[in-house]
Amino acid sequence: MKNLKINNRFTAELPADPDESNEPRQVTNALFSYVNPTKPANPQLIHASETVAELVGISKDEIQSEPFLNAFSGKEVLPETRPYALCYAGHQFGNWAGQLGDGRAINLTEVEHNNQFFTLQLKGAGKTPYSRTADGLAVLRSSIREYLCAEAMFYLGVPTTRSLSLMLSGDEVLRDILYNGNPAYEKGAIVCRVAPSFIRFGSFEMITSRNELKNLKQFVEYTIKHYFPEIEGEPKDQYVQFFQKVADTTREMILHWQRVGFVHGVMNTDNMSIHGITIDYGPYGWLENYDPNWTPNTTDSQNRRYRFGNQPQVAQWNLYQLANALYPLINDAKPLENILESFINKFNSDYKEMFLSKLGLFTSIETDSELITDLEENLQLSETDMTIFFRNLNRIKKEDSVENAFEKIIDAFYIPKEIANNVLENWTSWFSSYLKRLQTEKLSDEERIAKMNTINPKYVLRNYMAQLSIDAADQGDFSLVSEFYSLLQKPYDEQPEMEKWFAKRPDWARSKVGCSMLSCSS
Ligand code: AMP
Ligand code: MG
Repeated sequence: MKNLKINNRFTAELPADPDESNEPRQVTNALFSYVNPTKPANPQLIHASETVAELVGISKDEIQSEPFLNAFSGKEVLPETRPYALCYAGHQFGNWAGQLGDGRAINLTEVEHNNQFFTLQLKGAGKTPYSRTADGLAVLRSSIREYLCAEAMFYLGVPTTRSLSLMLSGDEVLRDILYNGNPAYEKGAIVCRVAPSFIRFGSFEMITSRNELKNLKQFVEYTIKHYFPEIEGEPKDQYVQFFQKVADTTREMILHWQRVGFVHGVMNTDNMSIHGITIDYGPYGWLENYDPNWTPNTTDSQNRRYRFGNQPQVAQWNLYQLANALYPLINDAKPLENILESFINKFNSDYKEMFLSKLGLFTSIETDSELITDLEENLQLSETDMTIFFRNLNRIKKEDSVENAFEKIIDAFYIPKEIANNVLENWTSWFSSYLKRLQTEKLSDEERIAKMNTINPKYVLRNYMAQLSIDAADQGDFSLVSEFYSLLQKPYDEQPEMEKWFAKRPDWARSKVGCSMLSCSS
């Protein structure tokens, strides 16, 4: 890969673990450990993104080459690189979990291309010093989910890691999907994902928890220098500004999640990127029927900490942990508290604006808050598909009657017979207010609809779609992986030949494992 320009800043500038044995251990006074991927038995390329390849300096033609297969399956280490695993900690489900680290992720290298820096990271390429008692591997099902979803999110305009390649390892991996004593062998797979860096909130928490303040200062300054070069001023001011930037980008990311109906499922602080990008696609899911209490993660089914409607609050809680980690450098709680407090206020006002834009309303007025809360309530009266509901609002014209307008979104209801009596009355009343409100908007129908079609996606990676592509892939048929990959590159386009994916979740998927219920087993 002749244009791959290796430029390792992380390993060159930050403290390394002097122990190079690949044994599980606590790693102190270091931010990473050198470790090589485990050689896969029989790697096979399933899919690769030409766009992401080009983004990092790999040409389209090189994708089918032997060096590409070898490098991104972990079979061979790229020339002049030394792969490494990051040491980080985190709060999991609200509890301090201590050292976690890249237990099954291995950073191959950083590369520079077109003045941008990227870290190329394999997920599922074998054990590292952070694997604890686990195997360092990933199964095909979770790798397809990560590979497809990250790219789908990118094209939806949601900040995210990117996916370069998806490979079969040729190894068998033992997993107990439901944690109920029924382990079975599954196909192993490896995803290469790409991000500016894989630094997480938990990276800072780890250092502070060990009271390694010199490393903390060095690491924060490293992060600012390379990723927030616009930050200037006194050191303490810089650290506060850094926190402000992370809070801002995190807020924007969550806003996008709420816009498209994405539920991350495991918002632990070790899964929060300091770049405000979506990272670590595990038991995530997409809202089908609009339900703020929904979480796809069976591990969280009791408390529902990471439910759709709680994501902004959890983001704030996670930022609070990051603030604690930065505090020893700042020694003044006030500026950090101010940022944390304004987080939810800013989120709420941005949320209102975002929600109105989904309705095609681009200037806010006093009574809009009521319009929003009434709609959020109505959407929960009877199972209502979020994606179809919002997308089909683009059929409504200002001059429509209430009956006409309502008819245009009727496909969104899962149980049509429930749309009667007070449910119907509530909807009639809402549409009547909505139509009146639409009349006050200055944009013409055409202009408004064009804008709405860039906000309300037509196609998302519905949970059952991911599962269909996994079931086929398990049988060696990767055509649905490719089909969804292409479909989701244009999530806002009509794509009439793909209309069958603009459909409610079929009944068989309602409570099927992998569709509505996902565990952390991956
Ligand atoms: P997650 O919730 O998937 O982000 O993972 C939490 C922690 O567990 C991270 O430190 C992961 O690296 C680690 N982990 C998850 N799965 C495995 C695995 N199969 N082998 C080793 N470590 C793992
Ligand atoms: Mg993780």
